[in-house]
Amino acid sequence: MKHRLELVSCNLCGKDKPRLKWRIKSSMYYPKLMNALSKVGRDPPEYFDIVQCRHCGLVYTNPRYSSEDQTESYESQKPGKAKETFIQKLRKTSERNRLNSRMQEIERYAKGILLDVGCADGKLLTVAKERGWKVIGVEPFGKEAAACRKLGLDVKTGTLDTVKLKADSINATNLSDVIEHLPDPSKTLEQVHRIMKKGGLLLVSTQDIGSFNARTGGKGWDLISPASHLYQFDKKTLKAMVEKAGFRTIRLYRDNNMLRHYLNFAFAMLSRSIVFAKLFLYRLTKSRSLRSQLKKTTLRYWPPLNDHVILLARK
Ligand SMILES: [Zn+2]
Repeated sequence: MKHRLELVSCNLCGKDKPRLKWRIKSSMYYPKLMNALSKVGRDPPEYFDIVQCRHCGLVYTNPRYSSEDQTESYESQKPGKAKETFIQKLRKTSERNRLNSRMQEIERYAKGILLDVGCADGKLLTVAKERGWKVIGVEPFGKEAAACRKLGLDVKTGTLDTVKLKADSINATNLSDVIEHLPDPSKTLEQVHRIMKKGGLLLVSTQDIGSFNARTGGKGWDLISPASHLYQFDKKTLKAMVEKAGFRTIRLYRDNNMLRHYLNFAFAMLSRSIVFAKLFLYRLTKSRSLRSQLKKTTLRYWPPLNDHVILLARK
């Protein structure tokens, strides 16, 4: 089936005619995504355009898959369940620590009912429940929502559009690694504002296009993923969009420290050299089989630590 692409205006200021920031050749940068799309019968586009609004600076994929195709391509990219490795077990422990410290941060400002939008496997809700919160989750993917309910969590299948929550009823909302996937993030933030109590706390975290990794990685930054990450925020555009929805920012920071910064720098240099070596070899060689092998290898810059921006705001 042919992909259906749609052109959109800037979701922050409404203006059209953005400037082209990057044109990303799909086959070179996204071999895995291309395979996944072919498997579900999609004819993947030859390239993706990442644009930047000339007026407010918002970075977004344009044109992009229509909403249904977007969901499908996102679903098809999801990894299947595999046996848990030692590293994954270690990660699980550090994940729990991370979620506990996230809840501690939220608890400095709010307590009561927590809403997790895009709650996935319900890890944050589980931790919050143990800490005495009443928890509600909203999750568009049916399988994940059902798995959460099996864990005894109150999770509704759908989006804030389809799941009707009462106005002025929520004390804290978590929106982590979600806003970049939303087709209309401004509208979702307005919906969150409506259902939250006055003085309630909103936490948004997303990958930061203004971060060191993004700036050095350019279009090879592994979090670009243009088919599913429709928006790329930085501190300025994230704050502007949250405040447009009626919130007041109380804290805005990058989730990194100096050690991470230097580690990132070292890995960035190393992985960029590998990418350049691959590109060089690709141009140099006449051997078809080597060229196709190189094409299959992911040509992306892949540092192990990614910078996110975190914003705390009150209604
Ligand atoms: Zn704009």
